[in-house]
Amino acid sequence: MGYSPPFGSGNPLMQNESPAREEYAPINWVTTILFTVTPLAALVFVPWYGITHGYSWAAVILFVLLQWAGGLAITAGYHRLWSHRTYNAHWTARLFFMLFGAMSLQNSILIWSSQHRTHHRFVDDVDKDPYSARRGFWFSHMGWILRDYPSGVNDFSNARDLERDPMVMFQHRYYLPLTLFMNIAFPLLLGWAVGDVWGVFLLAGLLRLVLNHHCTWFINSLAHMWGSQPYTDENTARDNGVLAFFTFGEGYHNFHHIFQNDYRNGVRWWQWDPTKWLINALSAMGLADNLKTVPDLWIQRAQIAMQFKRMEAALEKRRARGTDEQIERFKARVGEEYAAFRRALEEWSKLRDQWVTDRKQRLLQRWEETTLRSRMREIEHSLRVQRRRLQVMTKAYA
Ligand SMILES: [Zn+2]
Ligand SMILES: [Zn+2]
Repeated sequence: MGYSPPFGSGNPLMQNESPAREEYAPINWVTTILFTVTPLAALVFVPWYGITHGYSWAAVILFVLLQWAGGLAITAGYHRLWSHRTYNAHWTARLFFMLFGAMSLQNSILIWSSQHRTHHRFVDDVDKDPYSARRGFWFSHMGWILRDYPSGVNDFSNARDLERDPMVMFQHRYYLPLTLFMNIAFPLLLGWAVGDVWGVFLLAGLLRLVLNHHCTWFINSLAHMWGSQPYTDENTARDNGVLAFFTFGEGYHNFHHIFQNDYRNGVRWWQWDPTKWLINALSAMGLADNLKTVPDLWIQRAQIAMQFKRMEAALEKRRARGTDEQIERFKARVGEEYAAFRRALEEWSKLRDQWVTDRKQRLLQRWEETTLRSRMREIEHSLRVQRRRLQVMTKAYA
């Protein structure tokens, strides 16, 4: 969890920008045909059927339900459960995620999670990140799926835990029949049950699938290009509330890339993150446990470290047009603030260590624990105040 000192050397990643790779990559005809035909078919047949026949309410409701089931199976299942292990889920929840994840037609849990772990480990690397945003919008959105790039070769050495999971391996082995059943037979059966076979098939089957694909892919493309970077600028990931709305909370991608072990992506209570709410609900029902969160202070620390970087940029601007005296004053203020920041972090870490070891050894009296905890909370509060002060300072000086 790095925070760089003010007036540091900048971000080495940014200085090494390589151009997109010209490499030999054969077209993958299965994915190319599939991901060309499905959106075209949706574009033509969905409105045509609506105009000529109209859709039943049942078809519309099933469309919404399956949209949420398929979307959440990817975000809560494939992503936060299997790729990042941010919580444990009861087998009934895992079965649901496994089946509806297959319905989303984004490959098996094993392949998806392994690639996603590689994405986090080598984020932005043009050779190793399977959907590196540095190779452009098209590549990171869906180009990476349409050709067999060297960066997309499966290597399950980072997913041994998943290879030991019987449900994951069952889905991997029977992926084709499962995905065909969930995408064709299942919507047709639902349509037959409500008396609108083609309406349900087109809305809850086809349109749902196409929308789910592109919303998920936006996380690899747009969420690495458009939005804010409140927690880190060491990679291209962004926080974007608009994207979060369409992706069940996954749009808070800047937070996610720095704290990938946290089950939340939208960390604030008001941030739109239905995946987080689903995991909370599962936990309340006893179907999920061991929900992992990072300490609040780490989040504060990341945000303040980013503010120091912004102040540095403001100082650069000042240098161009300010007087020496003004610059010196500003520099002194930043230095003071940074020293206070370091002192607060050090004290907090010491208190936390003491709290953890004493708790382990059961040495702590109740009143001592209360004192320790309340001092830690005081420091957390002082950092929140500092964060606001830095915001004002940056604005005033920039
Ligand atoms: Zn992730
Ligand atoms: Zn990412």
